[in-house]
Amino acid sequence: MGVTPPVVPPPRRFPADGATTASPSLSPSPSPTPLRMRLSLLPPALRKRGRVPASKPRPTPPPRPRPLRETTPPTKPRPSTKPHPLSRNHTRLSKTTPPSRRPRPPPGWPRPRAMRKGAGGSRRPRAAGSGPGPGPVAVPLPLPVPGLCPRLRGCPRPLPPLLLALAAAAAILYAAWPAGERGTGGGPPPRAPPSEQDLRSLLGGLHPPRLRDAFLRPLLRERPPGSAGSLAARQHIADRLAALPAGWHLELDAFEATTPRGPVAFASLVATLAPAAPRRLALACHYDTKVLPPGPPPARLPFLGATDSAVPCAMLLELAAALDRPLRRAKDRGAEVTLQLLFLDGEEAFEEWSATDSLYGARHLAARMAATRHGPHGTQITAMSLLVLLDLLGTQHPAIHSHFPRTHHWFLRLVAIEKRLRNLGLLHASPKDQPFFRLSPPPGPVEDDHVPFLQRGVPVLHLIPMPFPWVWHTTEDNEANLHLPTVEDLCKILAAFVAEFLQL
Ligand SMILES: [Zn+2]
Repeated sequence: MGVTPPVVPPPRRFPADGATTASPSLSPSPSPTPLRMRLSLLPPALRKRGRVPASKPRPTPPPRPRPLRETTPPTKPRPSTKPHPLSRNHTRLSKTTPPSRRPRPPPGWPRPRAMRKGAGGSRRPRAAGSGPGPGPVAVPLPLPVPGLCPRLRGCPRPLPPLLLALAAAAAILYAAWPAGERGTGGGPPPRAPPSEQDLRSLLGGLHPPRLRDAFLRPLLRERPPGSAGSLAARQHIADRLAALPAGWHLELDAFEATTPRGPVAFASLVATLAPAAPRRLALACHYDTKVLPPGPPPARLPFLGATDSAVPCAMLLELAAALDRPLRRAKDRGAEVTLQLLFLDGEEAFEEWSATDSLYGARHLAARMAATRHGPHGTQITAMSLLVLLDLLGTQHPAIHSHFPRTHHWFLRLVAIEKRLRNLGLLHASPKDQPFFRLSPPPGPVEDDHVPFLQRGVPVLHLIPMPFPWVWHTTEDNEANLHLPTVEDLCKILAAFVAEFLQL
């Protein structure tokens, strides 16, 4: 991210088929081996204290597992017949928005709270300095929604009237703030959607077998932070990106933090196409896997985290590969908005999900980016026009909702792109199937890697299915339970979205 000198300064571009020659070491520990790419090791961060573990909620299992490449959809729930383009209900449910931008709930309306990807736990705001990295912003974490998700527990906590008044005042100030200085999620000026021919040409760059064999399968191993599996996964991601002709600038945000299980080394990988470009469209996922409690004897199967989140990582690699040529052209012409990929470490809690035992990599990176100048007046955080977080994707029939009014217009683009691709017969899913991107209100917001960025004002699209996949946090989260046609469909939609956003 440009705040520390590269370990090995000389950048290089890699040939299209040069994957085997580009093998930068991504160990968090400085290696004496010369690296062959731009790679910065960010300095260690402050340590943080973990919280007391508690019980972990479990997802409701489905009637039966779905086989790989199943194409006939099983019985699905009825679609919502009530679209809600920024409906009031939706706004009320979106409580991952920081309190300063939260609309005041009407009298008598149940005060929602946020759901967590992990388990329950303390919901107290994180104190300033308690997280990793320099000067984290002390913004209360979002509050869960009791009763809306049976997996998640907790009781509403009343907000004092003074806090509500402050929130209203902050919302007014926020609305009046000059858009260009904080990022609005507006992105570049809109243009006409691509022709069908251009769309087919764009999507022709996607190669599902490559996604599965070259990108996904090497990730399907246990990847807890600081482990050999983590290092191998990180190295795999870096090698694949370094092999692309577009020329990605890779940085490693490596640090150590105290967890409930002691000090752990973390390292997030940041890939930026054109680091000097004024603005970025960031696509993010986490590559670590959760350490599940010991299972019954003889020994539990390994937790591979296929949807959580090997598939999203593989999707980002596939998008970078599929769009390599247009991305290269945009970089060469000095496009104002460039693409950035965040492969975050330490999303999972080691024990019980809490403000300090979760989101290790995202908290560290967001704090680091907020402290790193970018351009004449901003930081790397304000340079983010939009953060699109992918998580828990890979199973059939995902129901993805719009969580934030601020980025709802971009969510509507996903809805429109999906509809168009379905009608053109370019997706495996038919126009009669339930859409992936739903206009119905989400059951509730979810705490995830976007939170530290959201708290710093980054516009966010959170692409996570709700309900979560039935394999969530079980050893069933493996390749056999993926539905690769759905993964391919999602890649197509996102490829068209990225191309539209970046005006490729
Ligand atoms: Zn998880």
